[in-house]
Amino acid sequence: MSEIKSDQDSSQLIATDLYQSRDKIYVRRIKGYFRNLRFFGGLFLFAAYFGILWLDWDGRQAVLFDLPKRQFHIFGVTFWPQDFILLSWALIISAFALFFITVFAGRIWCGYTCPQSVWTWIFLFIEEKTEGKRNARIKLDKQDVTLNKILRKAAKHLLWVLVALVTAITFVGYFTPIKQLLPDLANFTAHGWVIFWIAFFTLATYGNAGWLREQVCIYMCPYARFQSVMFDRDTLIVSYDNKRGEERGARKRGIPPAELGLGDCIDCDLCVQVCPTGIDIRDGLQYECIGCAACVDACDSVMEKMGYEKGLVRYTTENSLEGGKTHLLRPRLIGYFAALTIMIIAFSTVLISRVPIELDIIRDRGALHQITADNLIQNNYLLKIANMTEEPQTFSISVSGMEGLKFGSSQSIVVSGGDSATVPTILLLPKEMNTLPTNKIEFTIVSDSDNRLKTTEESRFFGPANF
Ligand code: SF4
Ligand code: SF4
Repeated sequence: MSEIKSDQDSSQLIATDLYQSRDKIYVRRIKGYFRNLRFFGGLFLFAAYFGILWLDWDGRQAVLFDLPKRQFHIFGVTFWPQDFILLSWALIISAFALFFITVFAGRIWCGYTCPQSVWTWIFLFIEEKTEGKRNARIKLDKQDVTLNKILRKAAKHLLWVLVALVTAITFVGYFTPIKQLLPDLANFTAHGWVIFWIAFFTLATYGNAGWLREQVCIYMCPYARFQSVMFDRDTLIVSYDNKRGEERGARKRGIPPAELGLGDCIDCDLCVQVCPTGIDIRDGLQYECIGCAACVDACDSVMEKMGYEKGLVRYTTENSLEGGKTHLLRPRLIGYFAALTIMIIAFSTVLISRVPIELDIIRDRGALHQITADNLIQNNYLLKIANMTEEPQTFSISVSGMEGLKFGSSQSIVVSGGDSATVPTILLLPKEMNTLPTNKIEFTIVSDSDNRLKTTEESRFFGPANF
């Protein structure tokens, strides 16, 4: 399918293909300051991703998302479905943190820490080790099929699949204890669903980092689409200094560019060759740019060789590029920072003061009240007690809000750690002490071993009116 456009200057019609096939990008590896930052940032994330699930806490995997039991264990704290609101807030805070970082420093999340980027850099590294440097890879792809080509390609794909498989097993290990998962896999006794998810994530990692690469960032990632609206004239972006670089052109070393009527850009194309999304930063800010600064390292190395000042391509702001001043403190950034700080304080307070027990009261739906043979008014309840701590707890049950109430059932219950129990509970009241048809009461449960584990829930006591 093609689209016809009118060129206003020449009044010519230009046909543009709307469904262009992807041109493979042969990314050139470059050393430099920002490459080191990416490397150590990626190494830290890798160590965290592959390492955390081997840590134990209170005899259990420190981070475990136990979906069958609907419990999330994170370093000794167990989150239950009742804590879903906390999880939602954690996600909202993460989103705000991302907005704040984007307003401040553009897409550094994408270039340095996004798993898609980190895994793509690893896959690129494997590609270079198996198929050679950029030019060798281009040559290899153009070659006819030879044994050398088959072996190199096979080695690359095998290593890609291995990395993808280890990534997938690790990911599934956050949902099924890894120390149980690995023997199960080795003995072919793993559950069918476990195998399915490992296969799914292996394929997803292999496909995304090996084949789709920059297309995930350009066409699939929603963040890439809306992040540009968060940019302002003081956001840190990777830019080419047009004034300094133009007129671009090749030249010999040692001749001052001004004598040739040229700027500092020697038009070597190195900044394009190292770009993982295949764009030319000299064309200005583009939504494909993930802010990885590979072009900064590339251009700095060229400037060094030419004896020019570094920074023709650099992190800067629109204001600074136009000779103005960069405003670090600006209303939007302050707004995000204030909102983020308030949310983090509120979230931490809720988290610290969270009591890891819960009480739900269900009244007997069959009858509002009964009269016993002893002329007592009886109300029946079901007390649902969730013990979200790791240890078993013995809870004492008490009631308040009405004079004369007595328990017709046990006032003590043991609930295992990370479990819940339902306790049928009976309240009795001498008939003559009842004054209203409905009375507000409060049930309280408190742990015998730790009186901070205490919670109260409101309910009602019904009886016939005595007036
Ligand atoms: S233009 Fe530069 S910063 Fe942007 S993606 Fe390409 S190499 Fe990375
Ligand atoms: S690397 Fe620098 S000198 Fe070379 S083309 Fe890019 S901007 Fe110009």
